[in-house]
Amino acid sequence: MTGTVYLVGAGPGDPGLLTVRAVELIAAADVILYDRLIPPEALAHARADAEIVYVGKEGEGPQFPQDETHRLLLEHAQAGRTVVRLKGGDPFVFGRGGEEALVLAEAGIPFEIVPGVTAGVAAPAYAGIPVTHREVAGGVAFVTGHESAGSEIDWRGLAAFPGTLVFYMGVRTLPRIAEQLIAHGRAAEQPAAVVERGTLPGQRTVLATLATVAERAAAERIRAPAITLVGDVAALRSRLAWLESRPLYRRTVAVTRARAQASALAARLRALGAAVVEAPAIRVEPLAEPLPELDGYDLVCVTSPNGAELLLDRVRDARALAGRTVAAIGPGTARALRARGIEPDIVPERAVAESLVEALADVPVTRALVARAAEGRDVLPDALRERGADVDVVALYETVAEPLDDATRDAASAADYLLFTSASSVRFFAAAGGSLAGPRLVSIGPATSDELRSHGFAPDLEADPHTPDGMIEALLNDVR
Ligand code: SAH
Repeated sequence: MTGTVYLVGAGPGDPGLLTVRAVELIAAADVILYDRLIPPEALAHARADAEIVYVGKEGEGPQFPQDETHRLLLEHAQAGRTVVRLKGGDPFVFGRGGEEALVLAEAGIPFEIVPGVTAGVAAPAYAGIPVTHREVAGGVAFVTGHESAGSEIDWRGLAAFPGTLVFYMGVRTLPRIAEQLIAHGRAAEQPAAVVERGTLPGQRTVLATLATVAERAAAERIRAPAITLVGDVAALRSRLAWLESRPLYRRTVAVTRARAQASALAARLRALGAAVVEAPAIRVEPLAEPLPELDGYDLVCVTSPNGAELLLDRVRDARALAGRTVAAIGPGTARALRARGIEPDIVPERAVAESLVEALADVPVTRALVARAAEGRDVLPDALRERGADVDVVALYETVAEPLDDATRDAASAADYLLFTSASSVRFFAAAGGSLAGPRLVSIGPATSDELRSHGFAPDLEADPHTPDGMIEALLNDVR
């Protein structure tokens, strides 16, 4: 049976602007034919066995002939494969999606068009410029700035257009665009903006007038991809530039946490304006060590959020914890316990073993169970034994190295801030060859800081409280 071809828009670059439909189709595809200007993160949704082929041709990079793209689309679909043709922005806005759809229609191959967020709207939006605005611009024109033989631009018509002009592919031709618009009657004093790498980390915007925009963009060395916008709406940027006002704007922050826990922290950093490099150096590997019956213990200590989850996975019936004092090492672990319906009795504010020992000072203990990582420190069990308690330690998981590809590792080492949420993440990041020399090093707490020192680097910032929230607070204080 013939496969279906999906012409899918991947949005302007921010992976958050991929549509739900795009992600769903990428995850289902047998074959993905993609262009240069798609968010790299989009391909992370692909199946491990999907065939992923670069067919891009924009800009100065390698050029893939359009005929060859057409041939591949037909060949894969005729072989019965599900094909995603992934394009930057929207497939029908300067994406040659129309041409490809015509080829498919002609060959009788079923296809679907999945619109995407187009750069001409998204880049201005991220720069604080609405492309239409009541009483300022009642219309918007999408225009190619790339004049090819046989497709001359109608400058007179454009200059007279009553609304905003949005130029794609117009960086090199910017001087000519401005000159021609003015020559054909557009006001030289009209505001104009260029947005480079819109919605991506490192987005830059130049706001000028039609008369000065080309010179200003050249002085700032603006490069493709960029959107040029001409119209009075551009001036609204001075009041609506929301992105640049975020505290971590233009800062790159690398997170070495295990993938499963990194995303929440990464999302919060992004919301504060940071560009985030996710470089998981560690992974949590559950261990099969049997869990003893809980009824013999009067105290159960949980020393990490991972431990909380794995303990409750094993316990199955939470009533086994009834009647026992449950101690969490800190607020994060307490939260993980609450998420599973257990309210801990004891939670020290500072998430270190020493604080938990202190918090337990007045709690009578005969038999205690400490549920933790295989590599955990013995501070807590030792202290409880010293008090005469019978202590069993169960290792629910171990933290192991997660392989890091060189590019990700080096991007993390080149970040402005490098975050370590555990001693093991320091150890494995360094073992993977990651350099600690460049970025400001942010440690979650004393044990992690000691590990950094043992590698010859003092932490620049240590979180207090010793939680991800504390790390973010330390970062915000540092940039102020
Ligand atoms: N189909 C795409 C456009 C492809 S043409 C869309 O709908 O967005 C390529 C041009 O799009 C580039 O030359 C540039 O003008 C623009 N562009 C694409 N991504 C961009 C980005 N992140 N920021 C600014 N302009 C971008």
